Amino acid sequence: MSTTVPRIVMKFGGTSVANLERIRAVAEKVRKQVDAGCEVAVVVSAMSGVTNRLVGYCQDLSALHDPREYDTVVATGEQVTSGLLAIALQALGVDARSWLGWQIPLRTDDAHGKARIESIDGTALIASMQAGQVPVIAGFQGVDHDNRITTLGRGGSDTSAVALAAALHADRCDIYTDVDGIYTTDPRIVAKARKLDKITYEEMLELASVGAKVLQTRSVELAMKERVRVQVLSSFTDGPAPSEGHLPGSIVVDEDEIVEKELVAGIAYSRDEAKISVRRVPDRPGIAAAVFGPLAEANVNVDMIVQSTGDDGMTNITFTVGKTDFAQAIKALEEARDVIHYGELATDDDVVKISVVGVGMRSHTGVANTMFRTLSERNINVQVISTSEIKVSVLIAAEYTELAVRALHAAYGLDAA
Ligand code: ADP
Ligand code: ASP
Ligand code: MG
Repeated sequence: MSTTVPRIVMKFGGTSVANLERIRAVAEKVRKQVDAGCEVAVVVSAMSGVTNRLVGYCQDLSALHDPREYDTVVATGEQVTSGLLAIALQALGVDARSWLGWQIPLRTDDAHGKARIESIDGTALIASMQAGQVPVIAGFQGVDHDNRITTLGRGGSDTSAVALAAALHADRCDIYTDVDGIYTTDPRIVAKARKLDKITYEEMLELASVGAKVLQTRSVELAMKERVRVQVLSSFTDGPAPSEGHLPGSIVVDEDEIVEKELVAGIAYSRDEAKISVRRVPDRPGIAAAVFGPLAEANVNVDMIVQSTGDDGMTNITFTVGKTDFAQAIKALEEARDVIHYGELATDDDVVKISVVGVGMRSHTGVANTMFRTLSERNINVQVISTSEIKVSVLIAAEYTELAVRALHAAYGLDAA
C-alpha cells in the first residue's frame, strides 16, 4: 500500500543531545513533526564529549587494544541517548522506542572502528512507524557477521542517518546540528562565512573529504549514490517554518538543481595531516615505489605528494599522511632505510591542509593562482600542493590556519555582506 504521509529521518548530533535539557528540546522538535503528520525515525549521536572519553579509556588501558572491544565500548554512548530520548518522547505522550544497531539489524563488514554498512532491514522500523511509533535509533553502530558490535568511524551517525533514510524510503534526511546549515567555510573560524541554501553532492563530498566535518564523508557518498535529500539545520533555533520549496537549513542536491553556480563553493581546513620528507634519495626509476611500497604495506594512506629534483642526481620526496598513521609511517620508513637509501627523514605535524572546492573549476582557470597569490601576499609559505578536478589544496604551517582561510574566503568573494 502506498502512502502519501511524508516520512523523514531526523538525526541529532552530540551537542544537540548534550544534556537532559537539550534532550527534552529535541523531543519537542520530534513531536512537532509527528503532530504535523509525518512519519518520523530519529537517529542520535552520543552526548557531546562522551565518545572522546570512551576512546580515551581504551587508549589509556592499551594503545594497541582489540578493535572489537573498542567498538563494544564506544558504541555505548549512542545506546544511552537512544534510551533517554525515547523516555523524553514518552513523557511528552509520543509513542517511541529505542533501537540498537543489532536489533534492526544494521549489518556492516568487520572493519572495526571504521565499518561500512552492508545492509539494513527496514521492515520492523517501517512497521513501527506505520503503527504510529517513533523509532529512536542509536547512530554510529551496527553488527557484523559474527554478531560483534561495530562502529562506523568518527562522525558516523551522519552515515547511519543517510543509510536509514535510504532503507526506509524517507523523503528527506534532516541532520540537526549546532550550526544552521552548510556554510562557505567553518562559521566558527570565519565570522563572514555565508550560509548556502543549496550545495551539490559533489562539492559537499569534496569539502567533507578535505575536512569540513559538518557531514561525515561517507554519508555524502551514500546520499549521492542513493539519491537521499539531505538537509543540515540547527537543533537550537527554529528557523522559518518549513514550507514546500523552502527549507530552513542547507540542502545537498544535484548539480542541475543549482541555477547560479559559484566558481568556488567553499573552503575547508584539516589539522589531521602530518608531513614527511624523505630527503636525498637517488633520483632513479622505481624510487617512488621504494618509498611508498612500505607505507602501503603498513596500511598507511598517503595524501599529498611532491617530488623535487636536485641537480646532483638526488631528489626529495615530500608527502602527507593522516596524523593517526604518522608514527606507523615513520617506523615503516625507518625499517626500509637500507632499501630506499635516503639521507634523512624530516617530519612535521604542525601543519594544516587548506582546500578550495568548486565545480566551477572545471570550466574556469585561475583558481589555483588566486590561492597562491593570496597566500604569498600574507607571507604564508606553501609547502605542498595537490589538485583534483574540483579542488586545490595546499599544506601550510598550522599557525596560519585562520589567517589563510579568512584571506582566501575574501579573495574568492565569499564573504557575507
Ligand atoms: P554534530 O555533533 O552535530 O555531528 P559536528 O561537530 O560533527 O556536529 O559538525 C558541526 C560542526 O562542523 C560545526 O559546529 C562547524 O564548526 C563545523 N563545520 C566545518 N565546516 C563547516 C561548514 N562548511 N559549514 C558548517 N559547519 C562547518
Ligand atoms: N558519537 C560518534 C562520534 O563522536 C558518532 C557521531 O557523533 O556521529 O564520532
Ligand atoms: Mg558530526
